[in-house]
Amino acid sequence: MINNFKLLQLKEEFIINLDSLEYKFMTKVQEKSLPYSLEGKDVIVQAKTGSGKTVAFSIPVVNKLNVKKFAIQTLVLCPTRELANQVAIQIKKLCRHIHNVKVLTLCGGVPFKPQVASLRHKAHIVVGTPGRVLKHISENNIELENINTLVLDEADKMLDMGFYEDIMQIIESLPKKRQTMLFSATYEKNIEELSSNILNEPIFIQDEEVH
Ligand code: ADP
Ligand code: MG
Repeated sequence: MINNFKLLQLKEEFIINLDSLEYKFMTKVQEKSLPYSLEGKDVIVQAKTGSGKTVAFSIPVVNKLNVKKFAIQTLVLCPTRELANQVAIQIKKLCRHIHNVKVLTLCGGVPFKPQVASLRHKAHIVVGTPGRVLKHISENNIELENINTLVLDEADKMLDMGFYEDIMQIIESLPKKRQTMLFSATYEKNIEELSSNILNEPIFIQDEEVH
């Protein structure tokens, strides 16, 4: 089994970043999911909090990014502003030696207009909460046509918070040809249903470790 990031086909800058973050070995879910997600396959990852899920999707998101193309290529949806901010920080850390990657957060509970201005200045990756992202989409503030990756982080929490309809509406506006990755601490009927509607032949990865 692969258990070292250096064995993956990653950009050189990444290896430097992972070294400086002292990520020497993949966590279980990273080890199981990265070989697929780095190939562009859809994945469902179910594992408890703290198992390295954020890093598991941030690596393929940044690795496939075309930095020279200044357009939104990835959309990450999170249940809350706090989580979205944490994800944005994590992605930025992984981008440290990759120049000029712009990550924009679009969350509710903060003023709308400055977000519109930031969108005009463009970004590579958008991390946001479903309600606010949908509001920007419905006002045509976001260029969606270059999005090739969608991440649903903490999908169970987003459904618990009543975001199902918002998520479905957002997805209807996205390009059909894309990689979709879904992360969740639990995997119940509602997540299974959501997954079957929006993922394409996903690989299902579970952290089966017993603690
Ligand atoms: P989750 O999303 O599953 O709750 P995170 O991706 O937020 O987990 O990771 C939890 C913590 O573990 C974070 O502090 C993160 O920096 C750290 N971490 C993630 N992957 C690794 C790794 N491969 N090696 C060491 N630490 C890691
Ligand atoms: Mg997480």
